[in-house]
Amino acid sequence: MDKREVYLDNSATTKLDEDVLEAMMPYFTEYYGNSLSQYGFSRKCAQAVDDARYSVAKAIDCKPVEVYFTSCGSEANSWAVRGGALSGRKRGSHVILSKIEHPSIMNSGKWLTQNGFDVTYLDVDKYGMVHEDELRKAIREDTVLISIMLANNEIGTIQNIPALAAIAHANGIVFHTDCVQAMGLIDVNVKKLGVDMLTISAHKFYGPKGVGVLYVRSGLIIDRLINGGGQERGMRGGTTNTPLIVGMGVAIEKAVTETDTNAAKITLMRDRMIERIKNEIPDVILNGHPRQRLPSNVNFAFNYIEGESILMRLDLEGIAVSSGSACSSGSLEPSHVLLATGLPVERAHGSIRFSIGKHNTMEDIDYTVDKLKVIIAQLREMSPLYKPQDRVKEV
Ligand SMILES: *Cc1c(COP(=O)(O)O)cnc(C)c1O
Repeated sequence: MDKREVYLDNSATTKLDEDVLEAMMPYFTEYYGNSLSQYGFSRKCAQAVDDARYSVAKAIDCKPVEVYFTSCGSEANSWAVRGGALSGRKRGSHVILSKIEHPSIMNSGKWLTQNGFDVTYLDVDKYGMVHEDELRKAIREDTVLISIMLANNEIGTIQNIPALAAIAHANGIVFHTDCVQAMGLIDVNVKKLGVDMLTISAHKFYGPKGVGVLYVRSGLIIDRLINGGGQERGMRGGTTNTPLIVGMGVAIEKAVTETDTNAAKITLMRDRMIERIKNEIPDVILNGHPRQRLPSNVNFAFNYIEGESILMRLDLEGIAVSSGSACSSGSLEPSHVLLATGLPVERAHGSIRFSIGKHNTMEDIDYTVDKLKVIIAQLREMSPLYKPQDRVKEV
């Protein structure tokens, strides 16, 4: 078998679509005006930003004035959590997050704690699901904000956001959801989800890196995170990044049109990969939910070995994946998400996330599983943890 290049890290970022790049290019070079300027030269920029805002609004089913462009998903999440909590301070200082949120939410929770707030982190079950009863129990008189993600970036678990948001609203609490992983793969609709705030990021659906959106329901006022001029209706300072916003607009239109076909194709690859790994590699555990799961996500714990070693060996075969310390790579801290599902530390360390995208093929999947089988067998042979009883006999 020839060596291939197989990119299975689409939850980390995706390949920018050519036509999205083409749409952006003139706004780097020809139409470089400041979209807030009053003269004709900038009018085309202002119009392009308006069009993109309209495209986003149409995609997530809200009004254009409810769309705020940010520099990334992390900024939108930080803004929602900090800004949402600070604006609610007169009513109370308690915030609820789940234990499996993205670091941008987890670290905003830490910031809130350092700034006089009380933060409750909801437990999840072994599949990574937040239970409605847990949320009901956590709600207090002084709870002002709840943030729970729609789909998890590490294990792909999809929460029942409409039910959770309804509980928040029955108690008069603002509800935010991180939909960065969901956009382009499942339906992301602010009305159907019933949320007050929602985050997306273009580079997770074949758009450019460096541009996100925070949806804020009209009527809800949150504190600013970035002070500046009058951009984004005075709510988010910084000279408007016209080319990236144009890219977001085109990418989200495509994401919505392609959701069903991409999801169908990617689901087939996911299911084949899960089946083959379960059937052909012993001692594995599927992390995440068996059904309530993103089409793109495959995450397994390979017992007795280190995820880092698997990752490096796959890399030598041209295959790009993430390990159980995903998103905090460089650190050898086991994933807080896997630990929250009750996975023991050593199994979290032995976990690998494969995230499938629209450019992958069944051949990529088969090539990866074929290589993986050999790698796992070889690493286990070298592992002091594997079949200890046999080793004792050998000695
Ligand atoms: C990637 C990601 C983010 C952060 O988005 P950036 O634009 O990279 O800052 C936030 N939440 C989730 C679930 C993500 O997967």
